[in-house]
Amino acid sequence: MSGGDVRTRIAPSPTGDPHMGTLYAALFCKAFAEKHSGTFVLRIEDTDRTRYVPEAVEALHDALHWAHLDPDEGPLAGGPYEPYTQSERLPTYHERAQRLVATGHAYPCFCTPERLARLRAEQEARKEPTRYDRHCLYLPQEEVQQRLRAGEPHTIRLRVPDHGPVTFHDVIRGTISFETSVLTDHILLKSDGYPTSHLAIPVDDYSMRISHVIRAEEWLSSVPYYVLIYRAFAWAEPVFAHLSVLRNADRSKMSKRKNNTSVRWYREHGFLPEAVLNFLALLGWSHPEGEEIFSYEEFRDLLTLERIVKSGPIFDLKKLEWMNGVYIRRLAIGELAERLQPFLSQPVEPEMLERILPLVQERLKTLGEINDALIPFLQEPDPACLPFAQAIKRLTLQDIRHGLELLYPQLTALGAPDASTFEGTVRSLAAELGWKAGDLFMSVRVAVTGTSASPPLYDFCNVIGWSRAFQRLRSALEALPAR
Ligand code: GLU
Repeated sequence: MSGGDVRTRIAPSPTGDPHMGTLYAALFCKAFAEKHSGTFVLRIEDTDRTRYVPEAVEALHDALHWAHLDPDEGPLAGGPYEPYTQSERLPTYHERAQRLVATGHAYPCFCTPERLARLRAEQEARKEPTRYDRHCLYLPQEEVQQRLRAGEPHTIRLRVPDHGPVTFHDVIRGTISFETSVLTDHILLKSDGYPTSHLAIPVDDYSMRISHVIRAEEWLSSVPYYVLIYRAFAWAEPVFAHLSVLRNADRSKMSKRKNNTSVRWYREHGFLPEAVLNFLALLGWSHPEGEEIFSYEEFRDLLTLERIVKSGPIFDLKKLEWMNGVYIRRLAIGELAERLQPFLSQPVEPEMLERILPLVQERLKTLGEINDALIPFLQEPDPACLPFAQAIKRLTLQDIRHGLELLYPQLTALGAPDASTFEGTVRSLAAELGWKAGDLFMSVRVAVTGTSASPPLYDFCNVIGWSRAFQRLRSALEALPAR
């Protein structure tokens, strides 16, 4: 196949907030298409009208755009195979379904939902697989024609062959066979005139010249139905590649109850799209040199379907947070400041922000953590609730006050000290008092920053300004009990 012929697609159903699994499939589809100078298509699978959420389509476009995974063709981008929204393609499905009926590969079914529910319940009670019993396949032709003419509600069902396996090849999973005895005469066209995915997917993949169907493993059991349709029309089958489905820590399929599945959640908490892509790529594929951190471009250039992992990767939020931290630390301060803007809960002077960021960048795992990290810089600590007692176990509060009282005039006399004078002053007073130097540094840290886990103390004072630091020191020591 020449490069330009590679066409991949995602076909998400707009049923709510875009799912991380959709981004995962989009990443592999887009990278594979790009690597082969091909085309990545977005098709909206909105044929289940009971689950359709109109806002979800826009949310999907937004999520793909955020992750830099915009499709080359799709409802917004347009393209030669428009429309890319299945609800706008109904005549195509009707025409195809009629052809299947005409050639004996499908048949009308007039069974009511009540009859089907009864059938199902009976089969379940007998512990049999739930399959359609082909009641309508055996109706006399005249009766069928007469009921159709009378406009009786009906569906169109695929006629699964009576015998033999349905076999196909998946690049990741090898040759797969389904016995027809485990298949059922699936509905292709519903009585509301909409197709099911069993009809719409193969018809659209064929019509849109999709060469590689790369999608999650959970859809594998639908492939035999597509294959029967491809064969009924004598169409060439696409390459199938079923990615391992993302899993919760207990190995069940990644679900809302055990993980945050919506792309929006990651975006709103300040995960960087490039970190999310790296993380998703690493879940589904292994880097030839075992690298963990790599760019989208590197992934794209190295991607082969053969290196896609077969077993279900666990979606580990802690690992994603770690990776996101790596990407945050790689950002230049100006860029970090810009990316943080939507996350700031209060406006911060740009100049101040750029001075603070080098001190907090190291610790941020998400952009959303910025507000907590800024508190010590922007907000005067409440002198009455400083965590001296928790942070310094060897000294009493009275001792701490005493130490700070002695230190205060020595420090203020320095004005804005350089780093070594500041350190020397604290150390020599600690020695005089017979304290461990760390305890006196910690006393100053708690007094000035309000916390025991702050960025480097000297740099912190420089950023907030020494006179402000001294004021904080003064208020803190005055709130401590005297000896
Ligand atoms: N509509 C399915 C989904 O919502 C995708 C099916 C496919 O990719 O073929 O994920």
